[in-house]
Amino acid sequence: MAGKPRRLAVAQRDRFQQLQALDDAIAWRQARIAASCPGCQPGPDGRRCGDHACDLDLIAAYRQMAAATIRHLSEPASQLSVAGGVSGSRDIACQGL
Ligand SMILES: [Zn+2]
Repeated sequence: MAGKPRRLAVAQRDRFQQLQALDDAIAWRQARIAASCPGCQPGPDGRRCGDHACDLDLIAAYRQMAAATIRHLSEPASQLSVAGGVSGSRDIACQGL
């Protein structure tokens, strides 16, 4: 089973890429909301038009997905700690986010 740690690393890399994509998507949506819009009421608490209300909903969804991805990132680390022995598990746990 020499390929197993590599598979875990790939899975972890995919999750980091997913986090990066979510981060980019959140930044893009926030830039859309920050732009002036005749359909939105002014101010941070102003009522948003349909498009920008959708942006706000998506930002909330992306943040939830990012939080779930971060939680999943700790799962392979705990599996790796079994392979690395007891002394290594504490180091891996402390590398968390
Ligand atoms: Zn708007």
